[in-house]
Parts: sequence; structure tokens; C-alpha cells
Amino acid sequence: MILRTHYSGDINPEMAGSEILLAGWAHEIRDLGGICFLVLRDRKGLAQVTLVKKIVDTEMFKKVRSISRESVVQVRGEIKSESKAPHGFEILPKEINVLDMAKVPLPLDPTEKVECELDTRLDSRFMDIRRPSVLSIFEIVSSVLHAIRDFFYSQNITEVFTPKIVAAATEGGTDLFPISYFEKEAFLNQSPQLYKQMLMAAGMDRVFEIGPIFRAEEHDTRKHLNEAISIDIEVSFADENDVMAMLENAIASAYKHVKENCQRQLEILNLDLVVPNIPFKKITYTEAIELAKNDKSVPIQWGDDLDTETEKFLGGIIGEHYFLTEWPSSIKPYYTLQYEDRPKICRGFDLMHPRMELASGAQRVHDLQMLTQRIKDKGLEPESFEFYLDAFKYGMPPHSGWGLGLSRLVMTMLDLENIRDAVIFPRDRRRLVP
Ligand code: ATP
Ligand code: MG
Repeated sequence: MILRTHYSGDINPEMAGSEILLAGWAHEIRDLGGICFLVLRDRKGLAQVTLVKKIVDTEMFKKVRSISRESVVQVRGEIKSESKAPHGFEILPKEINVLDMAKVPLPLDPTEKVECELDTRLDSRFMDIRRPSVLSIFEIVSSVLHAIRDFFYSQNITEVFTPKIVAAATEGGTDLFPISYFEKEAFLNQSPQLYKQMLMAAGMDRVFEIGPIFRAEEHDTRKHLNEAISIDIEVSFADENDVMAMLENAIASAYKHVKENCQRQLEILNLDLVVPNIPFKKITYTEAIELAKNDKSVPIQWGDDLDTETEKFLGGIIGEHYFLTEWPSSIKPYYTLQYEDRPKICRGFDLMHPRMELASGAQRVHDLQMLTQRIKDKGLEPESFEFYLDAFKYGMPPHSGWGLGLSRLVMTMLDLENIRDAVIFPRDRRRLVP
């Protein structure tokens, strides 16, 4: 059964005279007495269906006037050029079917004429996404993933999946969600880090994973969620500079792909996307601290992690994507490789957008003895990491990798205020439903 032959956005006035079948939502019904307009919305735009009382079937005219907004309708009709209608055409209907009638009142207005609080929107997300600007964001998310996957395949990187139910924390600490797993306690994984490193010992050479990470962080900010999608890679026989190059290329290819393939969505969002220039600047942690210290409003010492205020201050000065390199070993995880000649500093890096951190990565420790020592130095117990350490006993290549937050990439790309705008069903401290 054919329920539709075209999307509204694919129709143009040159197609006048053809008969088509459209299906979508009743965006608006304007009843002017002698003439009635049904504006049908599908995911590619709007189509005006025009019914002139004197010409069309009386039953059809009556039916259209009774349709509630947002009902699902199907229209068979002929295209006519009409400069005043959306996309320059209208449909003269031969048949109109109501496939499902919507209840009234609506939980929110999908026509975007009325502003709406984020919480109300998230409560009725299915209705919120009917708004063209919201739909555009999620179509762009998909396009970003398409570009990044293509980039990975072009680099001969193998896609993998690692478990999300795990027995141990990646980095120790308390940011874990415990779950009951038969007679044992288990956790939702914070990061695929340990598993993707183990795959380097497996000889998979270069892997990527796009999947959820879970963080039981208490904070409630505009850039943190308790469940997020992380884009992760791990590459053997590569140092931190090699994977930084892959990261900037992945980012640039995502911007380019969106610019080329999502013009309509960018127009709806009123955005002129600028593809960032690569290579990105590299600034050492020490240089960043010096810059921040010159500014009296950011009190910071060498060895401190960068707080939001410092990130924003640096972003303001630098004004574009940049890498922060050569971090103090004390504030990067145990698996980050230190410089041989100056062990206080390590080969960890962060990729920063002027607004926030987008990714963290490093060359990793691949020597078993060194790794065991680093775990102890961080106050953790090597016994809890046995399954991971085993992979370092029988030939582990040097390797590097990173993890990039998908929603942070999208929110900075599209200049969204809140990470929740870039996630269909966000999970935060207060939200577990829908
Ligand atoms: P931040 O310091 O900003 O909280 P992080 O350093 O704890 O981030 P990492 O463990 O380095 O985060 O994770 C790698 C990337 O995953 C981050 O740069 C970010 O883009 C994303 N990410 C991490 N935690 C979250 C979260 N709670 N919500 C959304 N994205 C996250
Ligand atoms: Mg980080």
C-alpha cells in the first residue's frame, strides 16, 4: 500500500499538474468561509491544501473543517503553482483521509508561534520534535554521526561495542550508578576506556565505539547529563599527536558534512555554519595557567583542574577550537602516559571549544609495571583491575585515543544554550521520564 508519494519539501511549482499523495500532520486549518486552507506538515516542510467551497465536494469541505490540529492526514491531489503558498505551490485535493484524529488541547504548540519552557517541551518531547527547528537539530545530529563514521571508515578503523554493565569503575571514584546484577553488584559503565585499550592487546589495531556513558555526577549544569553519547577511538602504534590529528579531522569533516547536506535545517535554525580551520592551535596547560593568572578574576594555581570559569576565560582569548596539552600527571587518569624526562607532566590532552571541553585523550601507559604503579599512586587497588591488567601481560602495543561528547559537539556547532537541546530524551538529576 502506498501511503505517500512525495514529501512536501520535494515539490516545486514546475511540477504543476501532477497528481501526488502527501501524508503528515494538520499543522494549521484556516477556515475563511468560502475557502478553507489545510496546511499539512511533514518532515520536509509545509504544503498548503486549498479547498474552495464552490468547487470541492461538500462532504470533503465539511470534513476538513472538523479536523483538529495535529491530526494525521493524507491528501491526494493536484499540484498548482501558487506564489503565496509555502514552497510556491498548493494542492487542489481530490481525496482527504484522516488517519488519526488528535485530541484537544495540545500539550504545546508545534507551530513555534508560542514560546515554551524547556521542561514543558521535554515532558512532551514527541510533540516538541514536531517543531521544525527541533527536528532540524536531531537531523543534524544524525548527519554528524554519518560524517564521523565515514571518517573512521576512511581511516580503516573498526567499529566495536563494549559492555555497558561492568564490575569495576574505569577510574575509581564515586560517579557510578550501581545496579543489581543477579547476586552481584554491578555498575553502568562510565567510559569504554579499559575495554578499548584491551582491544589493542587483541591486535584490533584501531577501533571506534559510539555509545552511551553513564556518570552519576550530582551537578546540574548546561553541559552535563547523567547519560551521554561518547564517540571513542583507540589506535595502536600512535602517539597523542597522531590521535589529535584524527580528532580535528573528525570535527572538521562533521562540520563540512552538515554544511553541505543540511542546508535546509541550518536555514531553519538561522545559522551560517563556519567550518573550523585545521590544524587546531595547541596550548600547553602551563601556558593556559599563565594566561589565566594574568586575569585577576580567575584565581588558579598550576596543578588545579580547569574550572568552567577558566575554560570560558581561555575560550574568550583564543576564540576558536584549541588543544590543551601537557597536563600535570596528577590531574589526569592513571592510564595517561607521563613524559619520560619530566614525569610531572603527561601526554594527556583536551580538545576545547571556546565554550567548553569537547574531548579528552592521551597516549596511554602500555607498560604493565608502570601502569600498576600508576594505579597505586592514584590510591586505587590493582586487584580491582585484574581483567584489564591481564591484557598488558602478553604484548601490548603503544597506543593512544580519545573520547568526544556527541552532544557537546552538536551544542557548540549549533550554538545551543543547553545540552538538553541536543539530546532527544535527556537524563539528568531530575529527569528519568520520558
Ligand atoms: P567535564 O570536566 O567537562 O565534566 P570530563 O573531563 O569529566 O568532562 P571525560 O571523562 O574527559 O569528561 O569524557 C570525555 C568527553 O565526554 C568530555 O569531554 C565530554 O565531551 C563528554 N562527557 C563527559 N561527561 C559528560 C557528561 N556528564 N555529560 C555530557 N557529556 C559528557
Ligand atoms: Mg575530560
